Amino acid sequence: MTNGLRMLPAALLAIAATGSAQPPPQKFDSNRAWEHLRRLVAVGPRPAGSPAIAQSRTYIKAELAASGVPVVEQAWDDQTPIGNVHLVNLVATIPGSSKDRIVVSGHYDTKLFREFRFVGADDGGSSAAFLIELARVLKSSRNPLTMELLFLDGEEARLPEWNGNDNTYGSRHYVEVAKRDGSLAGLKAMVLVDMIADRNLRIKRDANSTRWLTDIIWDTARRLHLDAYFAPAMTPIEDDHMPFLAAGVPSVDIIDLEYEAWHTPQDTLDAVSARSLQVVGDVVVAALPEIQKRLASQAR
Ligand SMILES: [Zn+2]
Repeated sequence: MTNGLRMLPAALLAIAATGSAQPPPQKFDSNRAWEHLRRLVAVGPRPAGSPAIAQSRTYIKAELAASGVPVVEQAWDDQTPIGNVHLVNLVATIPGSSKDRIVVSGHYDTKLFREFRFVGADDGGSSAAFLIELARVLKSSRNPLTMELLFLDGEEARLPEWNGNDNTYGSRHYVEVAKRDGSLAGLKAMVLVDMIADRNLRIKRDANSTRWLTDIIWDTARRLHLDAYFAPAMTPIEDDHMPFLAAGVPSVDIIDLEYEAWHTPQDTLDAVSARSLQVVGDVVVAALPEIQKRLASQAR
């Protein structure tokens, strides 16, 4: 037996349901993401507190506005081993049917190096460029949950080595504020992307991430025949998801830390590719509905 309506394309059904022509859901477009990456890298080194990171913020905000996605700044001053720094997270919101939300996050600062010019095409650039394009895509779809694109400042340590609290300034601040103002309760899951444009993309599972959320990402990659890029191997990673995990928020870090140009002058456009951004874009866009289904079944 068949239902005639089921034969209609989903887009037509959406028009029939609302009576108005909603534009069809957009696909993740790595050409657009690549252009954002190119523009961010062209700004130069973008360490926390620098005029250059303020310039990159202006760019990100303008691009989100062009997609019709409102963004607010979360600004504060923090103490670091090399003095006080002014930090700014950017919080872009796409309202869903529910106020409960999923955060998709990445850092947009680049690591401070004085001895060479570090533009962070992959490390800092890829995550920011990805989130700008993802905002455009999610804005075009109907989401059961609210989608929050969180651009984190100050992921990188200010000192050369990653030690103690001299890192993840933005994520720690965001979680502290969310605890204080009560908005943490509505945060149901966190998806973190970091260093996702490596030309030779191979992402391992992170041992610190939430198991079911990691499974959904890797299962989705397999379903899309992109499992060559999502390796079954596991390794523990400390990143911006740690403060969220500590606060009880299910979180997954999608990161390719096996990157030859990591924290070197070679982390430029030559070391990254649009194809890698497309792979992660396709997987995250396809995984978000699965994550929402899982959260809905948990809530029942
Ligand atoms: Zn880094």
